Amino acid sequence: MSIYTIFESLERYSMKLENYIRDIADFPKPGITFKDITPLFLNHEALVSCANQLAELSPKEIKIDKVVGIEARGFILGSMIAERLNAGFVPVRKKGKLPYETKSKNYGLEYGEDTLEIHIDAIKPGEHVLIHDDVLATGGTANAVCSLVEELGGIIVQCSFIIELGFLKGRERCQAPLVSLLKY
Ligand code: AMP
Repeated sequence: MSIYTIFESLERYSMKLENYIRDIADFPKPGITFKDITPLFLNHEALVSCANQLAELSPKEIKIDKVVGIEARGFILGSMIAERLNAGFVPVRKKGKLPYETKSKNYGLEYGEDTLEIHIDAIKPGEHVLIHDDVLATGGTANAVCSLVEELGGIIVQCSFIIELGFLKGRERCQAPLVSLLKY
C-alpha cells in the first residue's frame, strides 16, 4: 500500500463525508430523497478533502486538459478539481444560459427532462476530459454530457461524482471509467 493510499484512507476515515450529506425527503417532488450536499460545502475540511480525493482518483498516467462541471452543483468541486489537475474548467449549463454558440442535448432525469448545453469551442478534438457532477442517479445527465464532449472530439478519461445512487444503476449507462466517493 502506497503512502498516498494510506493517507487517503486516513483522510476518508477521519472526515466521514457521509456525515455532511443531508437527506431531504420528497424533494423536489414526492418519492425523491434528495441528497443535499450543501452541509459538505459549508465545512472547509470536508470540502477540501472531497476535492483532494476526487483529484487523486483521476488517472495519473493521463494529463487532463479540461474538467467539465455540470450545472450547478458540479461547478463547485469541478473547478476545485480542475485547479488541482492544472486543467481548464468547462461549464455545461441548462438551455439558454451560455452566451456563445452551443451544442445541446436533451436528457431524462430521475425527476423530469431537461436540455444541457456546452460552448462549441470549450473542448478541442483529442483533449482529455474529466466530467464531474455531485450526484449520479439514473445516469441520464452524465450520459448526455458524455455525448456533448464526444461530439466536440474530446476523449473522456473519467466521470467523477461525490455520490452514486447505486440502486438507480446509473453506472451501467456510463461508458467511461466512473468513480464516486459515497455510494447509497
Ligand atoms: P441523473 O441524470 O438521473 O443521473 O441525475 C443526476 C443529476 O440530477 C445530478 O445533476 C444531480 O445533481 C441531480 N440529482 C438526481 N437525483 C438526485 C438526488 N436524489 N439527490 C440530489 N441530486 C440529484
